[in-house]
Amino acid sequence: MANSDKTISIAGAGIAGLTMAIALAKFGFRVVVAEKQSTPGEFGAGLQISPNARRVINTLGLDEDFAANSFAPEAVDIYPHKHQTPINSVKLGEFATKRYDGVPYAVAHRADLLNCLYRAAKKFANIDMHFGIEEIDATQTADGVSILLKDKSGAPYPVTARAHIGADGVRSQTRIDHINGKKPNFTGYVAWRALAPIDHIAKFLPTDHTSLFWGPDYHAVLYPLPHQQSVNIALFSTHRHKSIARNQELNLNPDKLSIKENSTLSPLLDSLYDQFTPWPLFGITCDDWYKGNIALIGDAAHAMLPFQAQGAAMGMEDAGLLAVLMAAEPDNAKAFAQYQKLRKPRVDKVQKQSAENGKIFHMRPPKAWARNFVVARQSPDAQLKRLDWIYSHDPFEGML
Ligand SMILES: Cc1cc2nc3c(=O)[nH]c(=O)nc-3n(C[C@H](O)[C@H](O)[C@H](O)COP(=O)(O)OP(=O)(O)OC[C@H]3O[C@@H](n4cnc5c(N)ncnc54)[C@H](O)[C@@H]3O)c2cc1C
Repeated sequence: MANSDKTISIAGAGIAGLTMAIALAKFGFRVVVAEKQSTPGEFGAGLQISPNARRVINTLGLDEDFAANSFAPEAVDIYPHKHQTPINSVKLGEFATKRYDGVPYAVAHRADLLNCLYRAAKKFANIDMHFGIEEIDATQTADGVSILLKDKSGAPYPVTARAHIGADGVRSQTRIDHINGKKPNFTGYVAWRALAPIDHIAKFLPTDHTSLFWGPDYHAVLYPLPHQQSVNIALFSTHRHKSIARNQELNLNPDKLSIKENSTLSPLLDSLYDQFTPWPLFGITCDDWYKGNIALIGDAAHAMLPFQAQGAAMGMEDAGLLAVLMAAEPDNAKAFAQYQKLRKPRVDKVQKQSAENGKIFHMRPPKAWARNFVVARQSPDAQLKRLDWIYSHDPFEGML
């Protein structure tokens, strides 16, 4: 039987779960990670990793590995609907690296980041990872949590832990079973994701820049992944229905979006429309992120719209900070209360900012004209200045 004082169990080997596992392992905890998928890995596309998220990666000692599997674009070019040339170009590259004390703004494939975390987690003898877990049966006890992990064989694997952490994403069973029973809400937006060969995009756009397109009821983000010889494309559309079932047949076609009127974007996408996979976007807000000896991190606690590219970043910040607090404070109630107090105001603000961006990016005329007028006149660092509170943040400041 494991030493319950030094064992933490985690549901989910996603970005937040693996980050937490590595951080806890560094403090000498034994970590048991239970993942539903039968193999590590990630279906999906790209991720922007802003300096605040990169600080967590670097603090875990993964800077070199991540740098080799990511790319730092020079700028974000902003193209409003039907504009052939950008109205502004937000400086990134060296400029952002200097601004954020040597920490770059990068982009990567999700698998690049997950594999980097998985490779690191595998090196720890005190991280015990279980894939293909179909059921996590957790019961709170007076001083911890008693857990039974079951895979398809049905044979239970018992774990006695000081605490159980739900890093099981927006549909978190941990949240539903143990925190507040809340199911996620449809946000009214659908994402469409595809990867295109970098050569295809090179004919239309600079391949060392991120390109951001704004239009009525849609926006699109394209960024190069030169280490993968591909470009990540994410389109986002407003969806008129108030709700959408999780597995509802999505009778949607990106070919029908007003994006088709965008003469820069549309020719570039013409041969790619049938490759787009639609993802209805769900979100969740919770008043409390813990109950007893069970706590939530990442999307399980606060899945947000991806319009500020901060969901994974917030999950990594949560994970890093909670590991430090649990190492410093053996009483879960105190550690969890401190975690929520330090994290929730920031995450709430980022969540609101992400929703606000959706409204701004998808504006129609005449509001869109006013928006373009303002953005076209901003200095190339104005957007960074506005977002310094997100990117300059160091979740470990004064703690390590
Ligand atoms: C289109 C799009 C673009 C995005 N772009 C960005 C971006 O640029 N930058 C950024 O920071 N964020 C971005 N995000 C958000 C980001 O993807 C998420 O916030 C992040 O993946 C959340 O990580 P997580 O580990 O909390 O949850 P997840 O990534 O959902 O991981 C949860 C893990 O738990 C597992 N799991 C689920 N249920 C169970 C269970 N019952 N038992 C065991 N395991 C379970 C899952 O299989 C999964 O491995 C984007 C999201 C979308 C949709």
